[in-house]
Amino acid sequence: MSKKLSIFLLSLIILFFALFSLKTLSALKKDNATSASNNIIVVPNNNALPNTSNINISALVQNNYIPLSNTEISKIEDLKNYLIGKFDRSKRNDFVLVSDSYTISDSKIYLRQEAYKSFLKMEKVASSEGISLKIISGFRNFIYQKSIWEKKWNGDVLVDGKNLKKSIPDELERAKKILEYSAMPGTSRHHWGTEIDMNNADPAYFDSEKGKKGYDWLVENASKFGFCQPYNKKSDSERTGYSEEKWHWSYFPISKELINDYVSLIKKDDIKGFSGDQYFSEMNIIADYVLGINPICI
Ligand SMILES: [Zn+2]
Repeated sequence: MSKKLSIFLLSLIILFFALFSLKTLSALKKDNATSASNNIIVVPNNNALPNTSNINISALVQNNYIPLSNTEISKIEDLKNYLIGKFDRSKRNDFVLVSDSYTISDSKIYLRQEAYKSFLKMEKVASSEGISLKIISGFRNFIYQKSIWEKKWNGDVLVDGKNLKKSIPDELERAKKILEYSAMPGTSRHHWGTEIDMNNADPAYFDSEKGKKGYDWLVENASKFGFCQPYNKKSDSERTGYSEEKWHWSYFPISKELINDYVSLIKKDDIKGFSGDQYFSEMNIIADYVLGINPICI
């Protein structure tokens, strides 16, 4: 073999290896890029759910790439049960008994501690200005709400003086009638302990001088203490859902978080176990009733 031929062959071999190395390198780079973009960014989930009742579950669920441990899943289940009133109030240390001095009801009334503390501050000021604020309803669990709902559904309690089972045999229409003022079990804000019904739950009371004066005072002052009126006059905010309830006030520093959790977590299958429960999804209760509130309460 001539010297020239040997140099030529050697150059060819070197060129071949150089090209091969370049190709391999670029393939490797491409591989890395692909795997980086496919990588799921895993947020460290140590103590992702702090041990408090005010955990931001909505954010965690929306960011569903976060792997959830069994403990975390059970905390979400606990929160769901809380939102729909299926929990043992006596096992929670953030609920307190309302003193008899502030109620006009024979039964015991419980509230979330923060909501009650703020109510007490508000009541003190109201009282000094000649306004009486008495609590007629606070926390209600699923079973209690079920009894309210079913008594109206079965005609055991009259609505507008009528036995609805007889006067409205069509179940969907009957559900709509009850929903003017009463929530389906599992969908009531009263499950949360953040809601207070005050003075009188009859709309006619608020036409009286005393009723009007008390309501006007609340409209003017309640927000200073963290309370809003979720079921305000429908035409004021074009909201859907329940009729106006001048007696129902919500402690929104807590309830505005809970409504977000409710919308993120509660699904069709979670609301069942009462007469007419099939109308929960047929009527789109979450969109039209749970979310049919005064926008300032959200
Ligand atoms: Zn109420």
